[in-house]
Amino acid sequence: MEYIVGLIDKLAKTTQLDNQEMLELLSYYDNKEIRDLLAKKARQIAQSVYETDIYIRGLIEFSNYCRNDCYYCGIRKSNRQVSRYRLSKEDILDCCQEGYFLGFRTFVLQSGEDLYYTDDILCDIISTIHQKYPTCAITLSLGEKSKESYQRYYQAGANRYLLRHETANDEHYAKLHPHGMSLSHRKQCLFDLKEIGYQVGCGIMVGSPYQKLEYIVEDIQFMKELNPHMIGIGPFVPHHQTPFYKENQGSLELTLMLLLILRLSFPHVLLPATTALGTIHPRGREMGILSGANVVMPNLSPVNVRKKYELYDHKICTGEEAAECRFCLSRRVSGIGYQIVSARGDYKE
Ligand code: SAH
Repeated sequence: MEYIVGLIDKLAKTTQLDNQEMLELLSYYDNKEIRDLLAKKARQIAQSVYETDIYIRGLIEFSNYCRNDCYYCGIRKSNRQVSRYRLSKEDILDCCQEGYFLGFRTFVLQSGEDLYYTDDILCDIISTIHQKYPTCAITLSLGEKSKESYQRYYQAGANRYLLRHETANDEHYAKLHPHGMSLSHRKQCLFDLKEIGYQVGCGIMVGSPYQKLEYIVEDIQFMKELNPHMIGIGPFVPHHQTPFYKENQGSLELTLMLLLILRLSFPHVLLPATTALGTIHPRGREMGILSGANVVMPNLSPVNVRKKYELYDHKICTGEEAAECRFCLSRRVSGIGYQIVSARGDYKE
């Protein structure tokens, strides 16, 4: 016990542990006492940078077409049961309009890797949003593209990019993705994005099939190398129409443990309490915030397409209007002593 408390102090003071120490700390994830100790520090650190402010990002899932076939994902190309949809530019702008009215100052455009949206189309959408809402940040989450494409979106007005690396271990990556997708390319994308000037987010699913605690240590090591502005982590949740339908979902405790460790390792990072976390526990997102998260990403997609963007089973908030989600979250967040703020919520140096 004394030894672990020493590790926590070291991590809080220096933001670093060596790999062996990190593994030892992680392996205590089921110990509530240790998590509580970490949580106290995680909240102090988050509040020293971001106070008790929680930033909201309006998520617009504009297409569920995907050319990829990731084994974990419900909208993978081989899932013939998905009813596919694409939002038009006008649909997307309607989402932004409603979002702006509800106080959102960041819009996140997310989709499968859908080549229907050419760079010209995407740049037109991005620059229109940018012109109409010059005070808002535009985040993209469109998967792997060429550096030239990333550059064009940036010039059109995009500011941030989310691209979870999914796992920093090559062997593990190959167990989650079909042949032809590679970790090295995904990492290259992240470094390209950073070089262009985006605020960049990486991340993983906690408890994805074949994951080991050792791999999570490698993930943290990779994150230290990348030094991202945002880190998106949530539990893996199986989808019944994927090859991983029989796998177990990720553990709540391990997800919280990782959030705690990430807050201590990256004091300034923007850390969402994800929808997947809210899916595996009714108070998952509140628990995430109490573990150092400072961002939530409610859905702004039109209600009639929400159920179709089902990356995993039982995804929450697929029936509510954006306004309901916004107010429900406000209540939840103030219930634990934090407040949702209407601000861009940029990374604070
Ligand atoms: N096409 C984009 C967006 C992917 S969806 C891209 O490639 O980045 C966003 C994230 O959802 C993924 O990065 C993955 O980490 C997560 N996700 C996908 N399937 C999931 C599942 N079954 N359980 C939990 N999270 C999942």
